[in-house]
Amino acid sequence: MSEFDDQTPLLPLARIEELRALLHRANRFYYVEADPIMSDTEFDRLLAELARLEEAHPEAHDPDSPTSRVGGEPVSGFETVSHARRMMSIDNTYSMEDVRAWHERVVKALGDDAPVYVCEPKIDGVAINLRFDQGRLVAAVTRGDGEQGDLVTSNVRAMESVPLVLAEDPPAVLEVRGEIYMPDASFERVNADRETRGEQLFANARNSTAGTLKSLDPAVVRARGLRFCAHGRGEVVGLEDVPTYSEFVGRIRAFGLAVSNRTMVCTTIDEVLQCIETFGAERGEVGFATDGMVVRVDSFAAQDTLGETAKAPRWCIAFKYPAEQAVTRLLKVDWQVGKGGTLTPRATMEPVFVAGTTVKHATMHNIEEIRRKDIRLGDRVVIEKAGEIIPQIVEPVVAERTGDEQPIEPPATCLECAGVVEQEGPKLYCTNPECAGQFRERLKWFVGRGQMDIDGFGEKLVDQLLDAGLVSHFADLFRLNRDDLLALERMGETSADNLLAALDEARGRGLARVLAGLGIRHIGTSASKILAGAFADADALLAAEEVELEALPDFGAITAKALHDYLASDSARSTFSLLAEVGVSLESERGGVVDESSVFSGQVVVITGTLEGFKRSELSERLETLGAKVTGSVSAKTTLLIAGEKAGSKRAKAESLGVEIWDEPRLLEELSRLQG
Ligand SMILES: [Zn+2]
Repeated sequence: MSEFDDQTPLLPLARIEELRALLHRANRFYYVEADPIMSDTEFDRLLAELARLEEAHPEAHDPDSPTSRVGGEPVSGFETVSHARRMMSIDNTYSMEDVRAWHERVVKALGDDAPVYVCEPKIDGVAINLRFDQGRLVAAVTRGDGEQGDLVTSNVRAMESVPLVLAEDPPAVLEVRGEIYMPDASFERVNADRETRGEQLFANARNSTAGTLKSLDPAVVRARGLRFCAHGRGEVVGLEDVPTYSEFVGRIRAFGLAVSNRTMVCTTIDEVLQCIETFGAERGEVGFATDGMVVRVDSFAAQDTLGETAKAPRWCIAFKYPAEQAVTRLLKVDWQVGKGGTLTPRATMEPVFVAGTTVKHATMHNIEEIRRKDIRLGDRVVIEKAGEIIPQIVEPVVAERTGDEQPIEPPATCLECAGVVEQEGPKLYCTNPECAGQFRERLKWFVGRGQMDIDGFGEKLVDQLLDAGLVSHFADLFRLNRDDLLALERMGETSADNLLAALDEARGRGLARVLAGLGIRHIGTSASKILAGAFADADALLAAEEVELEALPDFGAITAKALHDYLASDSARSTFSLLAEVGVSLESERGGVVDESSVFSGQVVVITGTLEGFKRSELSERLETLGAKVTGSVSAKTTLLIAGEKAGSKRAKAESLGVEIWDEPRLLEELSRLQG
């Protein structure tokens, strides 16, 4: 029992109130104070308890309950609405002299030698206006053209970093402007996910944020981990006693709104310039994209005196850090082998400082790109950090060529294994299935999270094992003994024992994880789950006909053929038999991965409407482990629709197609039957 459980049993309505307050507070401590009061698991558990109680007590309905973030209905579009007060843009500058000149204009206009300034990092996201009436979030509108923007309230409500209800004693009307942004870690996760699904990657976190906010499905927004940071006011009724921006920031923080933890009050222009410089050196490390420093006059009265131009306020200026580009020399190009055999060019350059870090490597994408840009070895090249990820080479500086530059030739053979290289589209591939370079990448994939998930086996250990010649096949991992491991550099007894225990645990992960780990072309995690749902073990899978594979949900002719070819190969057969020899389970039921008797097995499921007791993403995952394929839209292939409250067009379509429809109680019943 945790401290948040019902200590002295309360009447249900009181417990509902208690849980709502607790969950609102938990969000505030997580997102505003950065000081969590409970774990994610605990949060989800209490949220589920609240959902159950609310379902049993509809009279306690509250549109702003923490449960209302879950399962908001997809929308068909966004309404354009007017801002109560115009959202202005800010004048930009790239020079310190301009900031000083701006300061002199402020001094002159105010007749005050020492105006107080506030500096705040400028986050590279999407500007938004949040409106709270009587402390409740009623509207979220994008900047748009400053006069009118898009009403994206349903999506913003799905963001846990934005409070639905303000704490303390909020004013009658509070409009807060701020930035919605995607932290680097979320951005990388979103792109990695898109990559596995073969979708086009977002160029940077800002595009990813904008795309997410315009998603028609709040569940997508909820899953993406967007953050909010306040940086201004719109219409405000009832905070007239607050005279400065810095005090305003303190007040709204107490209401539960996230503000920058780098807000700095400066009393001289030199302090302002120092602040700009300091952050310039540190901004690569804050964990999200920033592109400048906003400097504003702190006093609201002084702001009113200064007024605004047609475009922007006079009391505020944004210093933009220089474009994150640099020029350096290209020294060499390596062709790195990926797990699927792709050879990717990686540039090594003379080290150069860009966007807060020293870089010496850059990506060049592929051979076609190199030819199109005519990049040559020895060229002076412009490099750029796009959205703070790996730098890329933008273009050669042709004017600085000496004539000694050499064209970049694609390798005729694989540098790792001397295997034959072939070009397919813009990419080069090593065609040797025994390639040591590919195996290194495939082994790193095999041990990774979501595949065999072997705790403690990071990239470095894999490199060590390969370099020591201890592993030349996946199965060899499971033959490692204590002495093998202890012979490795910097390996202690405890670590070695933990690694052996992790290997032992991984033996039981079951067929779906093994298939996902092998890195078979076209067979990712979800295809592996479908296969494990359809076949009892590896032997049954090896005996499958191509037509059987093609008939599986979401398997097209290409996937089926590629898989069938692989299964028919000697290498596949030996892989499976070697794994079986070392005790790795190749059965579907093992590890709780798939229950073949599950009513969900083989179903093509669509989830719609508001579900009280489930996060949609978690429900999807659960159904997939039970052998279902969860898709986004109803089609002739759909076999089951799970319809929560307020299910709309999807339900109608499912009805017209004669698809079986379950409501939430039925879903719960089926799930509990599986557990029992
Ligand atoms: Zn190779």
